[in-house]
Amino acid sequence: MIYYKTNDEVELLRKSNLLVSATIAVLAAEIKPGVTTLFLDKLAGEFIQDNGAKPAFKGYRGFPYNCCISVNDAVVHGFPTHDELAEGDVISIDTGVVLNGYVGDSAYTFAIGEVDKEIQRLMRITKESLYKGIEKAIVGCRIGDISWAIQEHTEKKNGYGVVRSLTGHGIGRNLHEEPDVPNYGKRGNGLKLQDGLVIAIEPMINMGTREVSVGEDDWTIFTDDGSISAHYEHSVVVRKNKADILSSFDPIEAAEKANPNLFDDYLMQKELA
Ligand code: MG
Ligand code: MG
Repeated sequence: MIYYKTNDEVELLRKSNLLVSATIAVLAAEIKPGVTTLFLDKLAGEFIQDNGAKPAFKGYRGFPYNCCISVNDAVVHGFPTHDELAEGDVISIDTGVVLNGYVGDSAYTFAIGEVDKEIQRLMRITKESLYKGIEKAIVGCRIGDISWAIQEHTEKKNGYGVVRSLTGHGIGRNLHEEPDVPNYGKRGNGLKLQDGLVIAIEPMINMGTREVSVGEDDWTIFTDDGSISAHYEHSVVVRKNKADILSSFDPIEAAEKANPNLFDDYLMQKELA
């Protein structure tokens, strides 16, 4: 069953998603060597509750934390831990909130300090692929057009591994609604997109193999070859000529830029362009 959202529902979903963006921005300001991901998770929980919302991930199918925090070869669904972050780590933060009964869901990947050019490139291409997918989230396109755009930019043009076993998803009153939004697929295939469909698009892209496995905690997904993985996610509403992005990277990118411990090559390149 696919639920198309009214304009009022879209505005509620925007509020939820902007709170997610604000939450990730708060964490972005705190990332540095020596900080634990459990500390970041605690901050997220406090910030979400201080803003009158509930963490959407906590308790979802038994997930025990506020955020999925996935470091280096962890792709997604990472458990926050007591391990201290270090220079060179690549850390994806994925979180969700429930506000007024509507769910927000977004994710962003950060690099701590100087990371090598290949990793910078993986992050940049993955983020670009998200926006290439979003360009296809318009009335008249199909889910497969979004999937194809992401796969084309990451796998075909850059040789990266596109994770097959996890996908984006519809979002609304529930964190995961129909339809699935795979990051690989054929143009012109799948559900025809209609106005008011709200979907979370979230490329999960590995520098090496696309194959992944679940870790000992039964949640964290790792690349099979130990290669670095990147993950960016926006929740968007399908509209006629241009998707409306409900989450925002603006506060996150501003925090990333202001934090001297984070590498923001992508922003520098954008400014130079
Ligand atoms: Mg997410
Ligand atoms: Mg999601």
